[in-house]
Amino acid sequence: MVWDVSFTCDVCGKKKGDSNHWWMFTLGDVDCCDEGQPRQRFTLLPWNFAESRNSEMHHLCGRGCAMQAMERFMTNQRIERETSAVA
Ligand SMILES: [Zn+2]
Repeated sequence: MVWDVSFTCDVCGKKKGDSNHWWMFTLGDVDCCDEGQPRQRFTLLPWNFAESRNSEMHHLCGRGCAMQAMERFMTNQRIERETSAVA
């Protein structure tokens, strides 16, 4: 099989090479939660080729970006790099 998919870290934008220690995470819904609490959960998974193509998966180039993704999740409930969202 030809390696025709290139992955990019969802936090820093780095491209995946063969030997990087990448991780993945996905956000899921939380069924019941308290008032004012986030309605999502953050799940971190080891890199897995089959799952890496799943569009629900976000890709992380390493521990540093994983920590940053979780921090963003806990702060903003979103992972995307902040655009100029400040009004
Ligand atoms: Zn990264």
